[in-house]
Amino acid sequence: MTTTLSAANLDQRIDAAAAKVEPKVIECRRDVHQHPELGNRELRTSKLVADRLRELGVEVRTPIAHTGVVGILKGGKPGRVVALRADMDALPVVEQVDLPFKSTVKTTYNGHEVGVMHACGHDAHVAILLGVAEVLAGVREELPGTVKFLFQPAEEGAPEGEEGGAALMVKEGALENPKVDAVFGLHVTSRYPVGEIAYRPGAELAAVDSFKITVRGKGTHGAYPWLGVDPIVVASQIVLGLQTIPSRQVDSSLAPSIVTVGSIHGGVRNNIIPDEVEMLGTIRSLDARMRDDIHARIKRTAEDIAKSGGATAVVKIDQGYPITYNDPALTEKMVPTLRKLTSEIEVVNPVLGAEDFSFYQQKVPGLFIWLGTRPKNQTAEEAPSNHSPLFYVDESGLGLGVRALSHLAVDWLTR
Ligand SMILES: [Zn+2]
Ligand SMILES: [Zn+2]
Repeated sequence: MTTTLSAANLDQRIDAAAAKVEPKVIECRRDVHQHPELGNRELRTSKLVADRLRELGVEVRTPIAHTGVVGILKGGKPGRVVALRADMDALPVVEQVDLPFKSTVKTTYNGHEVGVMHACGHDAHVAILLGVAEVLAGVREELPGTVKFLFQPAEEGAPEGEEGGAALMVKEGALENPKVDAVFGLHVTSRYPVGEIAYRPGAELAAVDSFKITVRGKGTHGAYPWLGVDPIVVASQIVLGLQTIPSRQVDSSLAPSIVTVGSIHGGVRNNIIPDEVEMLGTIRSLDARMRDDIHARIKRTAEDIAKSGGATAVVKIDQGYPITYNDPALTEKMVPTLRKLTSEIEVVNPVLGAEDFSFYQQKVPGLFIWLGTRPKNQTAEEAPSNHSPLFYVDESGLGLGVRALSHLAVDWLTR
């Protein structure tokens, strides 16, 4: 009875602190929104985060993974270690939302002049997690264990030739010293309205891999194709052949998958058959074994179709982000916490986008939730999606994010 009472008391203290910190969270989000920085270049954001954590009495380790910051909050009682993650990077997008704190930042990206915008809402993630740090610092004496705050660069990918993101955070020891036992994260989205939390046990977001196929034939005159081997016709057959992998070859009742050829290039003139065609594409999958199987089938399909036409195909597959996989036992354990936060909890379909939160989940059990930030007077179809120059975050949804991560961390430590 005493435990229940003190747990309820701690819940109330957390909710009161979260309500109190909300205006500061919104202010911080606007500041970060107006000063967006691309992946591995989050210098201002990183400094803002580190300064704020130090003010709160949180131990700070920085830099990690270029511009990352790890905060360590030791509770007053012994216990396990839980990590909470926020990504900090913006996108090369010119903002088209008319806001007083709209971004007008420009920079160069892979040699191009670009605008910079928090078009994926990572500004909200930074502000929410700093809010959580303040809430939890206020109850640190009650906490059995340690909370680690992972402020991570470059979720959207590092610039060409650089490492970055969650993979580099893990590589540089973000989950060690002290060793993390579980990790939680969230993403704001316009798919769901303000006040709603969505999640899925198991595979929630896809693995993303890219491929390059080089088809080599033999160039000749466009009027005498029999004197050469036409790589354009062979490449066309490969494009169609690849589409039978998701639709006809893998068990689509188990999980959806996608193979997309997004770029195809060969030839310079109407009446010359070229030597070579190059194709680029993306692969999305939601099941680890299916992922490997699709890779093998892409290779076989391209090579054997090319061979049938007297050409050759060289297939190169680059592994990207793994499947964002919510540990089923952890998810089940934390559902009562989510239900405590709001009645608007939805178990949703997986999406074929990807998240590098998956690299943490490969090391420790993790749960990644969707936080609705769509204005209530808009439908999901009307609301511009993440990455759009019109992406809009309804700030009245941020308070629930602070409560969600605070309660997930505390409940996981105390139960
Ligand atoms: Zn994104
Ligand atoms: Zn994102």
